[in-house]
Amino acid sequence: MNILQSINDFNEAKQVIPGGVNSPVRAFGSVGGTPRFIAKGKGAYIYDEDNNMYIDFVQSWGPLIFGHADAVIESAIIEAIKDGLSFGAPTEKETTLVKQIITLTQSVEKMRLVNSGTEATMSALRLARAYTQKDDIIKFEGCYHGHSDSLLVSAGSGCATFGHPSSPGVPNDISKHTLVARYNDIESVRLCLEESKNVACVIIEALAGNMGFVPADEEFMRDLRALCDKHNALLIIDEVMSGFRASLRGAIGLYNVEADLVTYGKVIGGGMPLAAFGGRADIMDMLSPVGNVYQAGTLSGNPIAVSAGLATLCQIKANPMLYEDLEGLAKRLTSGLKAAALAHNIPLQVDCRGSMFGFFFNDKQVKNFEQAKCSDVAMFAKFHQKMLEKGVYFACSQFETGFICSAMNEAMIDEVISKAQEAFTEIAYED
Ligand SMILES: *Cc1c(COP(=O)(O)O)cnc(C)c1O
Repeated sequence: MNILQSINDFNEAKQVIPGGVNSPVRAFGSVGGTPRFIAKGKGAYIYDEDNNMYIDFVQSWGPLIFGHADAVIESAIIEAIKDGLSFGAPTEKETTLVKQIITLTQSVEKMRLVNSGTEATMSALRLARAYTQKDDIIKFEGCYHGHSDSLLVSAGSGCATFGHPSSPGVPNDISKHTLVARYNDIESVRLCLEESKNVACVIIEALAGNMGFVPADEEFMRDLRALCDKHNALLIIDEVMSGFRASLRGAIGLYNVEADLVTYGKVIGGGMPLAAFGGRADIMDMLSPVGNVYQAGTLSGNPIAVSAGLATLCQIKANPMLYEDLEGLAKRLTSGLKAAALAHNIPLQVDCRGSMFGFFFNDKQVKNFEQAKCSDVAMFAKFHQKMLEKGVYFACSQFETGFICSAMNEAMIDEVISKAQEAFTEIAYED
């Protein structure tokens, strides 16, 4: 495979952009090799600057449920652009979009639009702290909620529950308010709640997609809801990835556990920068200008992103079998990958919900981040590189989720599986 142009582009980019990328995972750091510079995408496929074609299981890290350059979304954007890009004044479309999200999902009575998932979770935390008049928050090791200071926190050593900054630049005075619990371990949450007594909220991805794909246990989610109620802490379910991805009603629909606040992003913008946070009206009405909790944004709810979001939701509504169909493809892919690996005695853990899927090179089922980290990342890197050379674009880390889009079909999936069989055979031969 000729990737000379990508190599060239990467070298140029590194001169002026740290690491050559505008978001670190794109640099392929954990699998090695050169990131592909993408020239264009259509449907299930992307094309790099050397005109190599790849079937794309990243889909911009989730937003593109209808694939690249979807015709309906594209024309909605083009139409919207003709009337101006942004006004900094309210538009009718914003209400239409919010109403649609409220009707299609649950747990949301009022909602506000922002530009990124990071903003959505950051704003939800502020609101939770204001509502409960408490300062501490609980997050789970391995869950990702964007890069705001309060959430760039990981578990301390030993049995300490108070977190420490997971990035330089995050003050200890901020991270000390974030307690870190173990995913799928309700006792660890109880411990945090008892230790702090000042917990405003628990924030969780009910389908964790940022430590690889790790769904929460149903019992765990039910217990979490009950525990939050007992301690007067709000439950924030972060659906930035799982919203309109795992099912029509997101993870909340699959677990049927109500959240006090919910965050959305990715799919609701159809590929444009759009995210949202919403929830109970009594909490949301604390926001300025009704209440006094400050939150704002120059480009929030801008008409182009909102139009892309409306076109996306409109297509989702028009296709009642969407999530079943996508899950059928996800199951076909993951069971095919598992069988291909097993044929070479390579243990592979697989799982999927709706259009989200994951696979770990691990001989045990993965329930939390500690267990995810026991995966064979060297094997993942080999597999990733081989598949890339064969024209299959998987996320460039063992700790990410894969996405199916509606432009994929069974024949495409079967071709990927046969390429995976080749890849495992080559890996076995080389070892
Ligand atoms: C992607 C993601 C975010 C952050 O969204 P950005 O738009 O990248 O800021 C937050 N939470 C979850 C669960 C995500 O997957």
